[in-house]
Amino acid sequence: MPDQSAPVTRIAPSPTGFMHIGTARTALFNWLYARGRGGKFYLRIEDTDQARSTREATDAILRGMRWLGLDWDGEVKSQAEGAARHAEVARQMLAAGTAYKCFSTQDEIAAFREEARAAGRSTLFRSPWRDARPETHPDAPFAIRVKAPQSGQTVIKDRVQGDVVIRNDQLDDMILLRSDGTPTYMLAVVVDDHDMGVSHVIRGDDHLNNAARQMLVFNAMGWDVPVWAHIPLIHGEDGKKLSKRHGALGVEDWQKAGYPARAMLNYLARLGWSHGDDEYFTMHQALEWFELDSIKKSPARFDTKKLASLSSQHIAAMEDGALIEEIAAYLAVNGWPALTAQKNAALQSALYCLKDRARDFGELLEKAHFVLTDKPIDPDEKAQKALDPVSKGILSELTPHLRNDSWDRDTLEGIVSQVAEAHGLKLGKLAAPLRAALAGRSVTPSVFDMMLVLGREETIARLEDASSR
Ligand code: GLU
Repeated sequence: MPDQSAPVTRIAPSPTGFMHIGTARTALFNWLYARGRGGKFYLRIEDTDQARSTREATDAILRGMRWLGLDWDGEVKSQAEGAARHAEVARQMLAAGTAYKCFSTQDEIAAFREEARAAGRSTLFRSPWRDARPETHPDAPFAIRVKAPQSGQTVIKDRVQGDVVIRNDQLDDMILLRSDGTPTYMLAVVVDDHDMGVSHVIRGDDHLNNAARQMLVFNAMGWDVPVWAHIPLIHGEDGKKLSKRHGALGVEDWQKAGYPARAMLNYLARLGWSHGDDEYFTMHQALEWFELDSIKKSPARFDTKKLASLSSQHIAAMEDGALIEEIAAYLAVNGWPALTAQKNAALQSALYCLKDRARDFGELLEKAHFVLTDKPIDPDEKAQKALDPVSKGILSELTPHLRNDSWDRDTLEGIVSQVAEAHGLKLGKLAAPLRAALAGRSVTPSVFDMMLVLGREETIARLEDASSR
């Protein structure tokens, strides 16, 4: 038996493009709130606007949710499929007198607004049919409108914003069912939230005004109003509302950029919510800590540097298996070829010296170049410069020593230091040519780690190649 007091939340994205990071953050907050309390978390695709909704956008949302590991209960719900139920509720409201038939045509409504504007009055449409007696109804198409209160005020008790007061004379009699029989989005949201048993609506504060109008339907139907928590939108580093100017907005773009899902989750959780001074944490901790009361009232600013810093900490802490899996997904989402089983095994053996200080998978793979590439090593321009004739001579002196002694870090350090000293050089002076010979790159793990990972045969072969070229 589910706990009756456990919360039920949902994420209700409109599938009209990519999955916005704001949507991902809202999903995360809802997920944390429900999952941390043994509740339910649902995914509802708000596809009532058939002209704007696309299958691709829904797929992008599902991919984003799966990448982040935000699992939902039951099936994905399509709002459009509930149209008959939504219409039924509109008709129930009609029968109960909390809604009415409005026969005003588009032209009449436009004329009303024009006149109101000219006279300097509110352009909020006031239907002449609100109190019309049924005998006066024409035999013509009609919309069903809610009978909203016209005086007094509506108070939204919001867990983030506090009490938000909306004057009722600012609410119009919104349409519930259009004259073509299709339900409006505003009606559909309320019916779905009620039917799904949603107890807490956590969403962007751009929906705060909608809450006042949606409450009309909850009240008219005698349904429990959910707990509202409207969270401030995410802003860019300049304090302006996040937009394309600020860089990538899609969740998938951040996956493509090589950030692990757990770093993204950690970062998104910190966007507008905090637990003391904790910056780095796991989802396990966030599940324990998440509270609506610690959501901030002011907009959070997206800070790519902070994300990169969290990402580096998560990469360093990740288990090898999880890293290998996420790197495979990173390659796939970028449309790059997968690693062969052999390369994957080589990469895995090197992870211990690659994990530290990689801000993203791109950086990690760049450092992994030495295990992912095959002989003969093709040095890049910078590495090529390190392979001058003197250095090549020294490298060739190294190989005989490497053949006999044991293959461990201390021995290798001893051999390289000895050869360096014989030439009056510091050990560090040999690092660049060794990196160039072993990896063909200048940014690599330590040369001793590379030697240990590559093994004796491969190391010697690469040194010989470099010194004879
Ligand atoms: N479909 C809305 C959106 O994508 C969310 C509505 C809601 O959460 O109530 O912004």
